[in-house]
Amino acid sequence: MINFNVPPYTGKELKYIEDAVVRQKICGDGQYTHKCNEWIEKKTGTTKALLTTSCTHATELAAILADIKEGDEVIMPSYTFVSTANAFVLRGAKVVFVDIRPDTMNIDENLIEDAITDKTKAIVPVHYAGVACEMDTINEIARKHNLIVIEDAAQGIMSTYKGKALGALSDYGCYSFHETKNFSMGEGGAILIKDEAKAEEAEIIREKGTNRAKFFRGQVDKYTWVEMGSSYLPSDMNAAYLYAQLEMADEITNDRLNSWNHYYKEFEDLENKGRIQRPFIPENCTHNAHMFYLKAKDLEERTKLIAFLKANEILSVFHYIPLHSAPAGAVYSRFHGEDKYTTKESERLVRLPMYYGLKEDQVSYIIDKVKEFYQNN
Ligand SMILES: *Cc1c(COP(=O)(O)O)cnc(C)c1O
Repeated sequence: MINFNVPPYTGKELKYIEDAVVRQKICGDGQYTHKCNEWIEKKTGTTKALLTTSCTHATELAAILADIKEGDEVIMPSYTFVSTANAFVLRGAKVVFVDIRPDTMNIDENLIEDAITDKTKAIVPVHYAGVACEMDTINEIARKHNLIVIEDAAQGIMSTYKGKALGALSDYGCYSFHETKNFSMGEGGAILIKDEAKAEEAEIIREKGTNRAKFFRGQVDKYTWVEMGSSYLPSDMNAAYLYAQLEMADEITNDRLNSWNHYYKEFEDLENKGRIQRPFIPENCTHNAHMFYLKAKDLEERTKLIAFLKANEILSVFHYIPLHSAPAGAVYSRFHGEDKYTTKESERLVRLPMYYGLKEDQVSYIIDKVKEFYQNN
């Protein structure tokens, strides 16, 4: 069976975990956490990066930093993971969905402005499949209406937009290091922060609302409760696992890109014949091969294709059920404008196996089976 995902493993993870254990520093903000933070800061150019216990928690932290309150509205796509919405719902905000672009499955930047009301506080673009949203337009709208931008870059580490790293393009960015993502620590994530003062506040909120980080740096002589907060810092053992992967970030990304490019090239013909659609990468964007998807004609054809691949020992999967159609969506959100593409395009999309270490002959086999399906249907 070819799995859809196999969590990345590079070989040094256990050595680094052992090192963390031996030095008896396994709680949060140990040596490996600092190494990971620095790596992200250097790689992305963000002012401050802090590892968190998940991307979900990074987004919750961003929502607190953005001072999201009861009755505020937050604009985002409906085609996303539940955490994108939950982080703001937890603060009492109303989620306002707008439609996606069918080419990238990202929020349609041209529909955002119409959804803005005097309650709107933030825009949350989601970089689907590690491919950037149209950030210049989104940041410009935010500037004009005095809104905060929080990037859900859960899938976007190592991708760029006009040469700059996803997650570091606006006020806040959130990465995921869940085992389904390009680099993993089991469960984990990071928040990227542009503003220096907000970075200090983030350290406090992440450390139970205390100024413990300042205490350890010798900047205050005892630490105390200074703000509302929670515990969003991961164990240094998890950070040790992640650091082994960050050290191999280019190798992991190139390996994935090889599989992605192989799929992309071989499916050109089927796309030209109008049978399927391949992902679209806008100009000025590079991507991290987080995902390879194709789009079937409709839900029925997709269901058949997934079943056919499964019968041939290949696990392919569909993705998000649009949040506005979910039970909680009815309570916490509204869809502004027409759902022209969100539902329709989500029903067509199927993700093919993609992971570090997927072999070339496996990719070839998957391609052959997809082609066989379209020959017989
Ligand atoms: C994976 C993912 C998340 C959640 O990440 P966790 O680290 O599991 O909390 C949020 N948003 C998107 C778009 C994701 O793909």
